[in-house]
Amino acid sequence: MHATNVVRSAALTEADRLMTICNGCRYCEGLCAVFPAMEMRRTFHAGDLNYLANLCHQCGACYSDCQYSPPHEFNVNVPATLAKVRNDSYAQYAWPGMFAGAFARNGLFITLLASASVAAFIAAFVALKDPAALYGRHAGDFYKLMPHNAMVALFGAVFIYAIVALVMSLRAFWRDITGDTPGADIGAVGQATGDAAHLKYLGGGGGGCTSENDKPSALRRVFHHFTFYGFMFCFASTSVATVYHYAFGWHAPYALLSAPVLLGIVGGLGLLIGPAGLFVLAQKRAPILTDKPRLGMDTAFLAMLFLTSLTGFALMLLRDTGAMGLLLAVHLGVVLGLFLSLPYGKFVHGLYRYLALVKYAHERRTATFVE
Ligand code: SF4
Ligand code: SF4
Repeated sequence: MHATNVVRSAALTEADRLMTICNGCRYCEGLCAVFPAMEMRRTFHAGDLNYLANLCHQCGACYSDCQYSPPHEFNVNVPATLAKVRNDSYAQYAWPGMFAGAFARNGLFITLLASASVAAFIAAFVALKDPAALYGRHAGDFYKLMPHNAMVALFGAVFIYAIVALVMSLRAFWRDITGDTPGADIGAVGQATGDAAHLKYLGGGGGGCTSENDKPSALRRVFHHFTFYGFMFCFASTSVATVYHYAFGWHAPYALLSAPVLLGIVGGLGLLIGPAGLFVLAQKRAPILTDKPRLGMDTAFLAMLFLTSLTGFALMLLRDTGAMGLLLAVHLGVVLGLFLSLPYGKFVHGLYRYLALVKYAHERRTATFVE
């Protein structure tokens, strides 16, 4: 029994109608994972539709190929409808539920969060230190403005909160999409990990994603790769720096050719190129393929990643100057805003999609047919 059978939003009702049409047509079955997963069902519970929506990469191929898309009276628009269901699902599974509203006006929410975080760091640096220290030269020593232990305590606490909130949200999603069927096997996890690592289904059936004028292009997949691996390199940089600090007693600032800095540079470049490219492509995207009212969520997340990298580079280049204090406050504020918004922004889409891929791999491996 799926938990969300009772409630049907307009988007879920429309997705149910479209999947029923597509299940009779099946023309698009080779394009992505959504259609083969759909074919394993005769009816569509809310949990099934949330699963299918989170399998969809919104490449647009099934809209371009569809003989029933507008102006046909069937009015079939799978990418936009699944985008609405998907965006609704983020709020539905948010933990704690009282923060679900953050997804409604996500751009505004994240802008306010980041601005408040930056302001808090500037105020704290001024209030807790000599105000002149904000503009002083500290030879790249960030800890003159904020002690290492205070930094670790603050970011560690926020990071743990974000992990707990994400795990609780993912648990609710997994329970809803799996219902009474078995969970997953290790082979399915391996296959899903491989598919996610090279964004297999962003291929749009071969030609790539449709961004403008119905022309498929591989660029969206490329910029997704820059973004994902940029994020992972930055994460690796922070992890290595943590090991340096606690295991070896080697304290920041690190040399330009040290592992944390090199990993950070590679990751930072990925987080400049990827989000910028995705933003440009989003501006060119045919609006009919999107969930227009909630494009702000995508933009806010891309902006946060881009600004995290930009302010990180600025800090690295100017850490020996009098601008370091202010840049440190801005960078830490942006990173804090990013961490706080991880469970309540577009970041969740990668995690839900991964779990949907695990379920898909499991269904295919076990040939599970859902009535
Ligand atoms: S999107 Fe259109 S062409 Fe593709 S399966 Fe559905 S109805 Fe058929
Ligand atoms: S938009 Fe792309 S990923 Fe989504 S259902 Fe259509 S073909 Fe599949």
